[in-house]
Amino acid sequence: MGGQIFGNAARIVQLKKIIAEDKFPHAVIFSGAAGIGKRLIAQTCAAAILCENPNSGEACGVCESCKLMAAGSHPDFLVVEPEESKSAPVIKIAQIRALQTETAIQPMRSERRVVIIDGAELMNNAAANCLLKTLEEPTGQSLFILVTANRAGLLMTVRSRCVTVNFEKLSAAEIKTALVNRGVESSRAETISLIAEGSLGRALRLENSGGYELRESALDFIEKLCAKKVTVEDIFSRGAEIDKWSREKFGEFVGYVQKILRDVYMLDAAEPFNADLKARLEKLKIPAETLYELFDAGTEIQRRLRSNAALRLLVESYFFRLKLALI
Ligand SMILES: [Zn+2]
Repeated sequence: MGGQIFGNAARIVQLKKIIAEDKFPHAVIFSGAAGIGKRLIAQTCAAAILCENPNSGEACGVCESCKLMAAGSHPDFLVVEPEESKSAPVIKIAQIRALQTETAIQPMRSERRVVIIDGAELMNNAAANCLLKTLEEPTGQSLFILVTANRAGLLMTVRSRCVTVNFEKLSAAEIKTALVNRGVESSRAETISLIAEGSLGRALRLENSGGYELRESALDFIEKLCAKKVTVEDIFSRGAEIDKWSREKFGEFVGYVQKILRDVYMLDAAEPFNADLKARLEKLKIPAETLYELFDAGTEIQRRLRSNAALRLLVESYFFRLKLALI
């Protein structure tokens, strides 16, 4: 399969084999942590299944079907994703109904059609129950790949209709190689690979879309809180600023705060999340019971982020709780 996929070599060999033997299950769950390449692997499988001249479970890359896949316009390849909104992203029943209308007809070019449902755990109950009907009555003409970072978040009835393929996190060395291949300078790639927690997606966010800076701003905020340099006005102005972010980005910010707190709690841990920040973390000196309180605030805000509550209110109440805990 494609040279851009890193890690999970044994799984990929298995998948190629079942594609070559034409035994790909009609409904399969690709399960594993976010950002380890599940979606890319699912697309690669789809390309191989739809290819007109596949070779040992791999797409040829040159046939008409492969060209359409590469152009993102293969009529027998469908992707369903959560719809972004101001509240938590969700896959709605209308999306699954639209999918069912399309899958009810014969595939256009190939013998089969491949459907990827990415973020499948974000189907609401109505959507999941609707999909269940399709999974219960396989026609053989459509194959479903449900991609999820939280398999337990899927309805049990949906899980039981699917074969599950688990994917592992990547090693730091695999992530470093992937980053260097993308032109990231070696020592920066090394640092990022250590804090990416086995996720190439996370590593790329750290590298490309300001994640590295986001972590810095999380640590900077904790340092200022500990030094009692955060005023009420600061909290309101930060609230206004973060209100322009996506909920996902703020969730990531809170995630960095949580990992920094965890590292402060276990400064001598064998595998700190932020190994490169040790000298700064050692200076924080937060008592254990305060760390619990701060950590608890983060857990609660991550839960509330999945509700419909306004982002700005969530940000401000979180920051106030952190400030109070550190008085
Ligand atoms: Zn082909």
